[in-house]
Amino acid sequence: MIRAENLMKSYADTTVVDIAELKLPQGGVTALIGPNGAGKSTLLSMIGRLETPTKGSVFLDGQDIRSIRNTDLARRLAVLKQDNTLSARLTVRDLVTFGRYPYSKGRTTPQDRQKVAASLELVALTPFTDRFLDELSGGQRQRAFVAMVLAQDTEYALFDEPLNSLDISHAVTVIRLLRQAASDLGKTVVVVLHDLNFAARHADHIIAMQAGRIVESGPAKQIIREDLLRSLYDTELSVTTRNGRVFVDVFG
Ligand code: ADP
Ligand code: MG
Repeated sequence: MIRAENLMKSYADTTVVDIAELKLPQGGVTALIGPNGAGKSTLLSMIGRLETPTKGSVFLDGQDIRSIRNTDLARRLAVLKQDNTLSARLTVRDLVTFGRYPYSKGRTTPQDRQKVAASLELVALTPFTDRFLDELSGGQRQRAFVAMVLAQDTEYALFDEPLNSLDISHAVTVIRLLRQAASDLGKTVVVVLHDLNFAARHADHIIAMQAGRIVESGPAKQIIREDLLRSLYDTELSVTTRNGRVFVDVFG
C-alpha cells in the first residue's frame, strides 16, 4: 500500500501540497482530480520519488521510499510524468525498452523484447516500433510513454494525465488498458484525469484535490456529486444518471 504522512511541498513561501494523511487504496484504479494548480502532479511526483517533499514521508508497503534502492523502487513503482520531453533522438522501441531497464540493466533478454513488443501492441503502436519519437504525433508519442510504463510491469503504476492529446478512440483504449492492468493483473493504478466522465466510469476511487489539499476522497460514486464538483472547479455543471451511467455535463 502507498501511504503518506504530513506530506508537504513548498516553493519559497508558497505551500503547494499539504496533506496530513493519505492512504491510497490497494488495487483498482484511483483517479486524482482537481483544477489546474491543485498539486496533483506534485503529489504524484513525491509519491514516485521524483520530487523531494519539503516535509513528511511516503511509505511503500510500510517502507519509507527514501530507504528503497533505485532498482528495487523501479521494479515496484512506475511513474508516467505529465510533461515527457526527451532530448535524445530515440525510437519507440528504445523508449519502451527503457521500461525494462530495472530488470535488464541494459542487457535485454528475449523476454524483455517480448514485453516491449506486447506493450506496443497494447497501445496499437506496433507499426511505429522503429520510428523516432520526434516523427510521431503528440498522441502517438503519449501512447509510447504509456507503453514504456506498462513494459516496466510494476505493482504500482502512476500516470499523470495519460489521456493528454489523445483522440477519443485512443483515450478509451488507454483508460481501458489501465482498467485492465488493475482488474486483470491486480495492479494498483493511480491516474490524474481531467475528464470527469472517464473518472466516473473507470475509476474505483477518486481523490479530489484543491489548493494543495485533499478535499474529499472515496468511492467514485460518492465523489462525483454536483455540489462537490461545482465547488472544486468553480464551474456550473450537472451530474445525472441515465441507464445506470453517470454523466457530468459542463455548461460552457
Ligand atoms: P496540478 O498538477 O494539480 O495542475 P502542480 O502540482 O503541477 O498542479 O502544481 C501545484 C502548484 O505548484 C502550482 O501552483 C504550480 O505553479 C506550483 N509549482 C509547481 N512546480 C513548481 C516549481 N518548480 N516552482 C514553483 N512553483 C511550482
Ligand atoms: Mg499536473
